[in-house]
Amino acid sequence: MSDCVFCKIVNGQIPSTKVHEDGLTLAFMDIGEVNPGHVLVAVKPHVENIFGLDDALAAAVFQTAARVARAVQKAYSPEGVTLYQANGAAAGQTVNHFHLHLVPRYDKDGMRLTWPAKNPPREQLEANAAKLRAVLE
Ligand code: 5GP
Ligand code: ZN
Repeated sequence: MSDCVFCKIVNGQIPSTKVHEDGLTLAFMDIGEVNPGHVLVAVKPHVENIFGLDDALAAAVFQTAARVARAVQKAYSPEGVTLYQANGAAAGQTVNHFHLHLVPRYDKDGMRLTWPAKNPPREQLEANAAKLRAVLE
């Protein structure tokens, strides 16, 4: 995609600070890092979101994420690491080229995701799961 910023990074048309690269994935520093060591792991082909990932890309991107997470742990010894991955504007996605964030975390580092738990009754969970099982491929 000619106007996609992450395609431009993958193609070397704009600079990035790389951590790891293989045939299917690229890991590079997030220009707007939340904490030092904040890495983005992107797929190389232009796939907008998780719905476009085939099994090979899905496996490759998580393999790279786990590998880079181990490096983040070794290099920064954070108190925790958050994996964040958004699909669609309502979910917080701002770059429409599949990527996930590895964010080293610390107590009171200011990163927040509001989590309004509803705790529905078991019957509601059963109905929700049945709806998913009915369309699972
Ligand atoms: P999203 O909200 O889509 O999950 O996150 C997109 C991320 O891409 C943001 O955290 C933003 O800082 C990062 N980003 C946007 N443009 C660039 C860029 O040109 N280079 C790098 N390294 N990161 C970028
Ligand atoms: Zn792209």
